[in-house]
Amino acid sequence: MIETPLTGFESDLREVATAFGVDDSLRIKHLFKESPDRLINTFVINGQSYAYGNLIPETNDQIVKKRLIKRYAKLSLYKALSRSLGKELPWGALTGIRPTKLAYSQIEETGEFIDFFQSVMKVSEEKTSLVKKILETQKGLYEKNNLNTDLFVFIPFCPTRCKYCSFISQDIKSARGKVDEYVETLVKEINESAQLIKKLRSIYIGGGTPVSLNIAQLDKVLCAIDKINSGVEYTVEAGRPDVITEENLKLLKEHGVTRVCVNPQTFNQKTLDLIGRNHTESQTIEKYHLAKKYFDVNMDLIAGLPEEDFNDFKYSLDKTISLKPDDITVHTLCLKKGSYLTQSTSRLSVNEIDEMVNYAHKTLGENDYRPYYLYRQKYAAGNLENTGYALKGKECVYNIDAMEETTSVVACGANAISKVVTSNFERIERYASPKDVLSYLGKIDTIIQKKKELFLEREI
Ligand code: SF4
Repeated sequence: MIETPLTGFESDLREVATAFGVDDSLRIKHLFKESPDRLINTFVINGQSYAYGNLIPETNDQIVKKRLIKRYAKLSLYKALSRSLGKELPWGALTGIRPTKLAYSQIEETGEFIDFFQSVMKVSEEKTSLVKKILETQKGLYEKNNLNTDLFVFIPFCPTRCKYCSFISQDIKSARGKVDEYVETLVKEINESAQLIKKLRSIYIGGGTPVSLNIAQLDKVLCAIDKINSGVEYTVEAGRPDVITEENLKLLKEHGVTRVCVNPQTFNQKTLDLIGRNHTESQTIEKYHLAKKYFDVNMDLIAGLPEEDFNDFKYSLDKTISLKPDDITVHTLCLKKGSYLTQSTSRLSVNEIDEMVNYAHKTLGENDYRPYYLYRQKYAAGNLENTGYALKGKECVYNIDAMEETTSVVACGANAISKVVTSNFERIERYASPKDVLSYLGKIDTIIQKKKELFLEREI
């Protein structure tokens, strides 16, 4: 439990404590003092006080000042916990911010980020080097042009629900009565969205499992997108091998899709059974080869799945590399509220997951895969990262845009978040449609209106 006198800072400080694996049973008291030239953050942990001082930021901009006060408070708590518990974390005091986004803003401000990451934020050499490599891979792909817009379309249905899943996605069989209506409503929203797009940069149909729709339903969604598509990168997160067919792949090809995801998550059958993925190892391989005839293919893996050890993960990674997909994303297991496995699974230590993640980084590098985007999630195992690797020239622009937030997003469907990046790239305005399918269906006219206000009527 954290007691802090700084209003609105509690959840940020808790993120730092959570990264150390500390729960609410540890009492942490925060004392904050502002002297004429210094901010003093003191944390009392297990009766021991740890105090740190920082120069007061010289700025009249109150938003910038608040951001720096928060940064120093988090950093001080990181140092206090690090001394109290006798350990350091791979990402140091970096929580709640995308590392590459922070690196870009540091470079803009000071011309460099490495010293800031390592000396100030206490990020390890390995993780700093990962960020450096990603920035290098993104050269020529990272683009700050406030006309750029990505189109995101969300299909919230899956063939069955995986036990680790916390997404807003429903088993399509139980949602059967609503799927046709969802498709009709989505088509209406896509049609109304065309006018919101300035310069289309990429299209991404995500889920859920978009190809769990039947052919007629999928065709309707794709036909609506056809009217917007200008021949850009076009990804469909086909996802689960159990519902990928030659017929739906051909349909995607006819509609100009360029890239699909076929996601093994693991190649160990015992784990697939345990986590409720309704497919086999051989099905993944078969569907991968089918998809590769038509598209660039991405494959997702998860490090830290229940009852897997390093060798299990190594087996899956080596198998994936042997297939030579264009793009491989290595996630760390993230169990949030809403997933079946949250309460019932023992989790591996940070070191064990880090060993898997480091092995992936080293082995993918040896096989010509370059890291090109990364993100971290609050409840990810070991508070580690998810990293996308691609063969040269096969990077997914949508993934880069989504992580760096340099591009506006017109998002359609339930639980879709539209974003407008302001012209100076300082702010992002958002509109989130309802998460639940029934609310989405009932409120579609309001949703369309709110999005028009966001994109057309607001001076950004
Ligand atoms: S396929 Fe993906 S979205 Fe669907 S239930 Fe499994 S993890 Fe969740």
